[in-house]
Amino acid sequence: MPLLQRLRDELEAPPQGRRFGQGWISGTLGVVLGAATLGGVLCLRYPSLLTTPEIRAAIDVPTFRIVLMAALVLAFVLGGVSAALRQNKLLGFTAMAFVLVATALGGSGAHAQGETPGSLYFGLDWFFLNLILSGIVFLPLERAFGRTPQAVFRPEWREDLLYFFLSSVLVQSLTFLTFAPSKALLAHTDWDALRTWVRDLPLAVQVPAIMFLTDLVQYWVHRVFHQVPFLWRFHAIHHSAPILDWIAGSRMHVMEIVCLRALTVMPTMLLGFHESAVQIYLVVVYLYATWLHANLRFDVEWIKPILATPRFHHWHHGLGKEAIDVNFAIHFPVLDRVFGTYHMPKGRWPSGYGVDSHRVPSGFVAQFLDPFRRKQQES
Ligand SMILES: [Zn+2]
Ligand SMILES: [Zn+2]
Repeated sequence: MPLLQRLRDELEAPPQGRRFGQGWISGTLGVVLGAATLGGVLCLRYPSLLTTPEIRAAIDVPTFRIVLMAALVLAFVLGGVSAALRQNKLLGFTAMAFVLVATALGGSGAHAQGETPGSLYFGLDWFFLNLILSGIVFLPLERAFGRTPQAVFRPEWREDLLYFFLSSVLVQSLTFLTFAPSKALLAHTDWDALRTWVRDLPLAVQVPAIMFLTDLVQYWVHRVFHQVPFLWRFHAIHHSAPILDWIAGSRMHVMEIVCLRALTVMPTMLLGFHESAVQIYLVVVYLYATWLHANLRFDVEWIKPILATPRFHHWHHGLGKEAIDVNFAIHFPVLDRVFGTYHMPKGRWPSGYGVDSHRVPSGFVAQFLDPFRRKQQES
């Protein structure tokens, strides 16, 4: 679509067109905030369909309405500032259009549209919460401590944002598929004494224990995904990201997400860790995975041998012979040392990122189908 293409060109404007005072910053912030307000209004109108029960229970709706009202005004003002400053009015007008549509749908006063609550829902609220919170943390960090200068809207940002969007909105089915195998096993194991003992351990012991057990399973599942050709077709999608930043780690085939998570949660579930410890771990692993992929030059000397740093995982994504099948752990590099896959050449980073064994197509749909297609070609 020409309009979408023009919008994309504006977001990906060259550095000389993104400087302060040229209306790019206000326009981009306006578009993102405008889209978020529209999402917020849709969540108010269709809460059972578009929001997750946990977030719904935790959010105070009157406060949310005030925040939404402020966001609507701010997005509109940002759009206006951009339209005034920038020669190309598209960013500014798009931001304002989002606000107008959001307002037409009821704005911050929108009410639920008499929907019949069903059991299926999409985590639209989770997507926006996720995007805004991760963005607030990682975008300024990458600007201040970026290893390589790269734009927020760098090549293939749309693909990675789509992966991020889908893994957030499909939260219900992904959570179900992740926990279903463990729950089935749980019903057939009788380890009550052990589980009570684990459950009563201090949280400060439980959380690192979950991190270690999960990483141990993750290490081997991950390694198998690299070494079994049929599985590598799925995992190669994750490795196809040409540029690493805070959102690039979201690129993962849905089959892999389900297999990896279902297997890695097993020890945690079977050993009966306390729900609070599991919840803390889920936040930790989420932030940790984002940090590992982020474009950050942090590589603190004393922490390197103990905890995985961005440079450690960037080598896992590196191009070239030395980067093949190294650094599988996501928390504890000691696992790679023990199993002989540790690779951290002093002070160096990989020359580039991607897959050199075969070509992964670009675009979400092509990547989704690719692992299945390859099978047909070979058989
Ligand atoms: Zn990998
Ligand atoms: Zn990765």
